[in-house]
Amino acid sequence: MIIRIRQLTKFYEMGDTVVRALDGVDLDVEEGAFIAIVGPSGSGKSTMMHLIGALDRPTSGTYELDGELVSGMSDGQLASVRNRKIGFVFQTFNLIQRTSAVDNVAVPLFYARKTSVREPALKALARVGLEQRAWHNPNELSGGERQRVAIARGIVNDPKILLADEPTGNLDSKTGKQIMEIFHDLHRSGVTIVLVTHELTVALQARRIVRMHDGKVLDDRMVDDALRHELTTNSLVSDATPTPKPPPPPVQPPSAQPPVARIPVARPVKV
Ligand code: ADP
Ligand code: MG
Repeated sequence: MIIRIRQLTKFYEMGDTVVRALDGVDLDVEEGAFIAIVGPSGSGKSTMMHLIGALDRPTSGTYELDGELVSGMSDGQLASVRNRKIGFVFQTFNLIQRTSAVDNVAVPLFYARKTSVREPALKALARVGLEQRAWHNPNELSGGERQRVAIARGIVNDPKILLADEPTGNLDSKTGKQIMEIFHDLHRSGVTIVLVTHELTVALQARRIVRMHDGKVLDDRMVDDALRHELTTNSLVSDATPTPKPPPPPVQPPSAQPPVARIPVARPVKV
């Protein structure tokens, strides 16, 4: 397993209340997997990505990435594991303005203190089909091109896993498709991909869908015809609300109760 997560929690204290952003998650991901994480807003998807991406430490639980115990690492160790093993792609691209595409792509190489940066950066741009835009600044590129630059930056260090939080969220559907093609190419070349999305068409392109709700994994299934059918007919991804609980049984006023009800019998189950 490239990712091994056990009983992972992340709690935030907000004044008197505790927000359980992640509330006991178990997850195994094998090398070369292509996973989509879906769920309603606030269900813990981004928190999960931050922890998997070694950007943050859990409140409790363990996380192993490629045999290294990431939970419990120091800040310096987290930075090192990020540099060596993880690439990131964000919804809003997060490129540096007034800086050429090739220099944006080279940023992780600077952090990794690599001596040669231009050549691998140009190679990464070629992998996403953008070498001819290498010297353009982000404001001279379309949204789809900016996301391709961001993906090139994500893969320039040859990461073991590529994490993408809503990578098509700011793109029109045609451009989104082109971006997904790049993820498929990377997956075919052996990169493990974990992406968060609220778009059903994007989620169904993964091999496996992990559905989250209230900081927990609701279900975790391989994508097959049955799941495709279920998700398409119930639109469980796009509006991503689980089936509502039935309303509690009505409580009868005491006068309406038959005499036998005075003997304590089965009480209505609290829901
Ligand atoms: P999603 O990405 O699925 O929308 P998040 O992981 O961003 O969900 O958030 C999960 C829950 O944790 C939400 O209730 C959110 O408000 C809360 N949360 C996330 N980050 C923080 C933070 N830094 N401080 C306090 N609460 C947070
Ligand atoms: Mg989010």
